[in-house]
Amino acid sequence: AQRRLEKKNVFITGASSGIGESTAREFAQEGSNLILTARRLDRLDALKNELKQKYNDIDIHTLKLDVRKKKNVEEAIASLPVSVKNNIDVLVNNAGLVVGMEPLINITEEDYDTMMDTNVKGLMFLTQAVLPGMIQREKGHIINVGSVAGKQSYRNGSIYCASKHAVDAITRALLYETMETPIRVSQICPGMVNTEFSTVRFRGDKEKADGVYEGLQPLDGQDIAEMITFIAGRPPHVNVADMLVFPTAQA
Ligand code: NDP
Repeated sequence: AQRRLEKKNVFITGASSGIGESTAREFAQEGSNLILTARRLDRLDALKNELKQKYNDIDIHTLKLDVRKKKNVEEAIASLPVSVKNNIDVLVNNAGLVVGMEPLINITEEDYDTMMDTNVKGLMFLTQAVLPGMIQREKGHIINVGSVAGKQSYRNGSIYCASKHAVDAITRALLYETMETPIRVSQICPGMVNTEFSTVRFRGDKEKADGVYEGLQPLDGQDIAEMITFIAGRPPHVNVADMLVFPTAQA
């Protein structure tokens, strides 16, 4: 098999848990170098140590990064060695969350800002920081983690759905904006994935979180991570523009 991802520099946001963490493991297995970012640096460093022991020929950088502020994004990237920051091959815009699966009338301005700033602004800032270099070098791939919530709306998900519809819209616009370049832009839209997200969205209420998966087997982070390395591993002329992945028991 062709090892197309070997030695590629892969930048992942939200790599401290769930889909992002699994995605780091999958790329490591493919021989990619990693730039792992999230707010919980201790988690990233533990993951780095684990992966370095398993695969000793890959480079791994960890960065504490809250994607909500443009300044943080710029500073984090600037802090990387020149050879890395000028050679990002794959950007996985994965950081994201729901705070409160509740009726719109209960959503506070702070909830709104948290979701929109993380899920939308963060994705924009990372893309703005990385895409110009990709265009200049005439190679690169941006993979956005959208959601089924970007394709349909559901009860108690108004603002989260709005944020993921924005990711869908941005991905589509970027497809046009990069059309004359070799840069690929992809979106993966998962259905239910059992991660920390499952409890974060109920503000930590584990019982409520588990209730969602009663009687059905959700996806796990690795299921989505395998799709992300699949998307990234296609030959350069193939762009998986949009991929919707559900648990079999979800419609
Ligand atoms: P997790 O809660 O397990 O992971 C979310 C990640 O995002 C964490 O690593 C967290 O790291 C990071 N994150 C949150 N806020 C910020 C921030 N401000 N700056 C930087 N990083 C941040 O959830 P998932 O793995 O499930 O979620 C990953 C993506 O998948 C999200 O975009 C989510 O919307 C999407 N998704 C999830 C689905 C699901 O059912 N789980 C379904 C469809 C899409 P830290 O807290 O350390 O910063």
